[in-house]
Amino acid sequence: MTTTIPSEVIWAAGCVPVDLNNIFITSDRRDDYIKKAERDGYPRNVCAWIKGIYGVLSELPDITTVVAVTQGDCSNTHALMETLQLKGIRTIPFAFPYNRDFDALAREIAMLAKELGTTVGAAEAIRGTLEPVRKRLDELDRMTWEGNRITGAENHLWLVSSSDFNSDYERFSSELGILLDTASKRTPFGESVRLGYIGVPPIIDDLYDAAEAYGARFVINEIQRQFSMPERGGGLVDQYLAYTYPYDVFHRLDYINRELARRSVHGIVHYVQSFCHRHIEDIVIRKKVKVPVLTIEGEAPGNVDERTKIRLQAFIEMLGRRVKKGMMH
Ligand code: SF4
Repeated sequence: MTTTIPSEVIWAAGCVPVDLNNIFITSDRRDDYIKKAERDGYPRNVCAWIKGIYGVLSELPDITTVVAVTQGDCSNTHALMETLQLKGIRTIPFAFPYNRDFDALAREIAMLAKELGTTVGAAEAIRGTLEPVRKRLDELDRMTWEGNRITGAENHLWLVSSSDFNSDYERFSSELGILLDTASKRTPFGESVRLGYIGVPPIIDDLYDAAEAYGARFVINEIQRQFSMPERGGGLVDQYLAYTYPYDVFHRLDYINRELARRSVHGIVHYVQSFCHRHIEDIVIRKKVKVPVLTIEGEAPGNVDERTKIRLQAFIEMLGRRVKKGMMH
């Protein structure tokens, strides 16, 4: 899959979901994957995530079918699908309706189930099976902002991996249980600046560590949290309508502003990916978010560059001064 989709349908079909983004970014061959895409003709000024996905699929013959999100994710996915078809990879389109129409989303889920040879009823049963692991992810998130015992990096890693549960939800759940148990015995973190992370997951590795080195901690990872389905409603369609990422930015902002207040966030880092259309949403986010915003841009996998580190440090110091002066809680 090219991004989060109703993975319950994949499990119900007896298949194994694999989030290609996670395979790409955690591979020690990620630079090779990008180069492979460029060798095959992908332009330099195309997002590295897209090239990474293409590169992964060029070298993993076990993945025979790709569910590609053609609406609600990435403007590059149509062309990615076409180049995959050229390689003989089966692609199944999946579209989140921009207007968040219940019936349209229900039709998409039913079509995905039909393509994979299962039923919506079977996928609803899997939804029930996944509830305990999703509850553990709720707890991980609560222990980040309220319990103050989970780091921003841990929060990011577990939530971003919940798109496919690392292809094994039972193992994922049991490993997460161990982390929660260990973390519950930690002394609560006492940093003075609380940050929010908004935007697509970072392609850079050490953003969370860099923030912690300057005395701040991320207490919300917006889209990663959405991947874990925080609002599950009464069925699959409700769950994926409440999922904010594929729809308009204003719907996302309702969730963002609500959570920033609830989690006492002092400032946000808006991460944008080079060559991504979502970069434009920065205009709206800067106008509508109620706390200071630092926009940072990443292009290729690797560590935070020195210029970004200096900007991050200055931002955290500015927030720290405001907290000290009592201008923020
Ligand atoms: S970061 Fe933007 S351009 Fe890149 S894959 Fe994601 S949505 Fe597409």
